[in-house]
Amino acid sequence: MATTLITNIGSLVTNDPDLGAGPLGLIRDAALVLDGDRVAWVGAAASAPDADARHDAEGRAAHPGFVDSHAHLVFAGDRTAEFDARMSGQAYQAGGIRTTVAATRAASDEHLAANAAYLVEEAARQGTTTIEIKSGYGLTVADEERALRIASAFTTETTYLGAHIVAPEYADDVAGYVDLVTGPMLDACAPHARWVDVFCERGAFDGDQARAILKAGAARGLIPRVHANQLGHGPGVQLAVELGAASADHCTHLTDADVDALAAGDTVATLLPGAEFSTRAVYPDARRLFAAGVDIALSTDCNPGSSYTTSMPFCIALAVRDMGMTPDQALYAATAGGARALRRADVGVLRPGARADVVELDAPSHVHLAYRPGVPLVRGVWRAGLRVRASDRG
Ligand SMILES: [Zn+2]
Repeated sequence: MATTLITNIGSLVTNDPDLGAGPLGLIRDAALVLDGDRVAWVGAAASAPDADARHDAEGRAAHPGFVDSHAHLVFAGDRTAEFDARMSGQAYQAGGIRTTVAATRAASDEHLAANAAYLVEEAARQGTTTIEIKSGYGLTVADEERALRIASAFTTETTYLGAHIVAPEYADDVAGYVDLVTGPMLDACAPHARWVDVFCERGAFDGDQARAILKAGAARGLIPRVHANQLGHGPGVQLAVELGAASADHCTHLTDADVDALAAGDTVATLLPGAEFSTRAVYPDARRLFAAGVDIALSTDCNPGSSYTTSMPFCIALAVRDMGMTPDQALYAATAGGARALRRADVGVLRPGARADVVELDAPSHVHLAYRPGVPLVRGVWRAGLRVRASDRG
């Protein structure tokens, strides 16, 4: 295995407080050694060991690759017209998902795989080195199974979301659809999924239905995560904590009891500011969650309806500007927080033994991710030790 020394890093975020200053484990004038797909050494550039290859960061900042723990990348078509209408004053309805379901069902496997590959590559160029991918635009046994099969080609973090909305064929028989999702569809999908998810929301699935779906998935070895409390108050967050879900996602409308439950439980609150941005909705209050001691992740929710962005730097800028996070909190949530939401100890951190996922910024500090919004600051990306992005500028 070849080793690579990345040296002369002006400001390195490790996310390991044992390695550097503060919760981000920040090291000035740092270096990293990558050995194959792993980090072999982290420390001061002055004491770095030799390696087979050498990359000079010329004083720039570096941090762990982003961990996007919530994305919907297996779909066809787009919803430009819906976004355009919404920005002209119409409210978002969860039923807009049906447009994408129809387009996805009509698409070939090859088209769906190519679209997902395009989006995964787009995310990688912006520093995302771990991404979760959900099903949820098929809503038949065969279409959900193929969505997960396609997703599995890009990530091990695959999520069965047959319960995204009630399939149109079951509009008058929600109980029948829950039986399908917890029965034959689960049988077909479980071999291709690590996680089970449900959209627990008015217009989608209520608390009892969501509980049945998550428990059925858990009985097949899938770990629950929940789309919870996005559009209004509801039982999703409490249910996520009750069932020991890895993550409650959105968490936009929370009661004090919801915040207390998250703080007391083992469930990460995953905030998705791209959704509030793209639906012109009120953002969740990250400060309230931090004050209560809740673990927080930050993700894109990339989907063609309510958040069509793959950009973690954009989400960091929104989290800082509109959700009250500090730049340090936002970067941590977008890296170590996402790893925790996926129950991964090998990503979201740069310490010996971790996966060699590194982002080099064209900036002296990670604070620039929020300070210079919309600017393509990601200069270099290593994923599992392989350079997947080299700057056009050298
Ligand atoms: Zn989502």
